[in-house]
Amino acid sequence: MINVDRLCQEFARLCTISSPSRHEGAISAYLQRRFAALGGQVEVDASQAQTGSESGNLIIRFAGHGTPQEPLLLSAHMDTVSPAQNVRPILENGVFRSAGETILGADDKSGVAQIIEVVETLQEQQLDYPPLEIVLTVCEEIGLLGAKFLDYSVLRAKQGLVLDTSGVGTVARQAPCANRLSVVIEGLEAHAGLDPEHGISAIQVAARAIAAMRLGRVDGETTANIGLIEGGHATNIIPNRVTLKGEARSFDAERLQRQTQHLCDCLQQAAEQSEIEVHGRKRRAQVRIEVANDYPLMNVAPEAEVLCRLRQAAASIGQFLEVGRSGGGSDANLFNQHGIVTANLATGMQKVHSVEEFIRVEDLAAVCRLLLAFVRSGC
Ligand SMILES: [Zn+2]
Repeated sequence: MINVDRLCQEFARLCTISSPSRHEGAISAYLQRRFAALGGQVEVDASQAQTGSESGNLIIRFAGHGTPQEPLLLSAHMDTVSPAQNVRPILENGVFRSAGETILGADDKSGVAQIIEVVETLQEQQLDYPPLEIVLTVCEEIGLLGAKFLDYSVLRAKQGLVLDTSGVGTVARQAPCANRLSVVIEGLEAHAGLDPEHGISAIQVAARAIAAMRLGRVDGETTANIGLIEGGHATNIIPNRVTLKGEARSFDAERLQRQTQHLCDCLQQAAEQSEIEVHGRKRRAQVRIEVANDYPLMNVAPEAEVLCRLRQAAASIGQFLEVGRSGGGSDANLFNQHGIVTANLATGMQKVHSVEEFIRVEDLAAVCRLLLAFVRSGC
């Protein structure tokens, strides 16, 4: 029922509009015109002040057609990772790729294009469909900022889909919650050769702490990583300052808290062990830890209506669908936190966040067909 040529044209057009995070102005303006021309009621929210983007999030409403039904949420993000200047999408042997120097931007323009084609098809063929609330966010790639500052009180939908995970034929119903840690360790500077007794090496404290940490895959639900370390000035100076950045994720909120506490404890214990006496005074390293809640847990019940609809939709068009989990957060985590039961559907995009990113036309179209069937199915 969908028009694959039109879908491909739309996708390619979206890819050519550069939109790295915070620079969504041009794509936002284009999408406002595009959806207004389709008869949507377009609203730009006031999140700009908080996100620092050139645009707010877009909230686009379609009233629906036929028997009155509950509204559905459909969402994708407008921003991309970099390099994203002058993206030239190339279609060869049924596969979209970039010309090579940039990302393609299928993450997440494949999702945006699929939503547009579904609306086009619904209207062109005068099909029955429920009211739609389409939310196109900014700054997803730099910490889900658009979704974090979205005004959820303006949304009526109680369920929906985010189109923002890679692969084909899969939908994520679970995603972890995560904490980010920023750590500053302050030691005591001294000459490494002349006066080492009076120094406390911040690097050594960091090393002790990290050596004691459970990192990597901590258990079946939880992972942790120290990803950045910086410190020291010269080989002959005992370093007085080290900064660390790390994270913990878990599919279980309690385990996330436990792992975060464990990381903090390792740092505090290493600092305690650093105690020395300088001119009759006890001195020890100081540790400052900032823990930021990166995103909340996403855990859609297996029997949720949104998954029932999606399974039914897949079956109705003979598509395979695997319900699983995603290892990373998305805007869907935030929608769920705000009471909108939202699963994250794979759009067909592959090798995202790299210049090798690609999407097959076949997959772009298959997910679009599934999305159309989803919108039209009832459970
Ligand atoms: Zn994405």
